[in-house]
Amino acid sequence: MLQWLRRRIAGPEPIAEADWRAACAAIAVIDGLDGQALERLRTLAARFLHDKDIVGAHDLALTGHDRLVIATLACLPVLSLGYDWLAGWRQVIVYGDAFRVRRQWHDEESGVVSEADDWLAGEAWQHGPLVLSLADIQADLDDPHAGFNLVAHEVAHKLDMLDGHSDGVPPLPDRPRRQRWLATFQGAFDGLRAEVDAGRDTFLDPYAAEAPDEFFAVVSEAYFSCPQALAAAHPDLHGELRAFYGIELRLPA
Ligand SMILES: [Zn+2]
Repeated sequence: MLQWLRRRIAGPEPIAEADWRAACAAIAVIDGLDGQALERLRTLAARFLHDKDIVGAHDLALTGHDRLVIATLACLPVLSLGYDWLAGWRQVIVYGDAFRVRRQWHDEESGVVSEADDWLAGEAWQHGPLVLSLADIQADLDDPHAGFNLVAHEVAHKLDMLDGHSDGVPPLPDRPRRQRWLATFQGAFDGLRAEVDAGRDTFLDPYAAEAPDEFFAVVSEAYFSCPQALAAAHPDLHGELRAFYGIELRLPA
């Protein structure tokens, strides 16, 4: 207890140079950040490690490197927004691989309660933990520009829910920005649904057509994995996300 208190009072411990280099080497998508932005990311990651408990589920042993990589990936979306956007929750639960959750839903008309098992790579609770699969994070690191970024996806859900609603609209600075966001995202969401319904191949993962909150999370994945490709396929969405996240990664074409 006393040790925990001392650690809290002492503040974040700076990340050792060798550890930071190893994390940067593992995360190709941050190659495009300049020196200043990287230093800011390093400070945010140190704060994340100090502030959050990153725990392995079912006795999964996490290394210091695993924790630092997760912290860095989680802080990337708030690099410009600021650390406060990650406030209000403490725990990151890490599974070795996809994990099973039981879903239950109630049909009002028939009164029937149905249940099914879902296999998930990640989950974000409004005031609760961020849940992640280490195997899926590793797959993103191995193929960094394929359009997938599980941690960015789950953090996007967290940002979305900051205003109390999981509706694909994070807090925005004013009404005009909100209206522009709604028009851009609704149009693109409807367009994707139509393409998916017609059985056509889509640039965005068809999972984005599930619901507006998933759409925002999936587009955020593309933004933090293959931004140039997103800009080419959906310039309006790319523009909204650049304005919202306030950073742009420059990746090899
Ligand atoms: Zn999601």
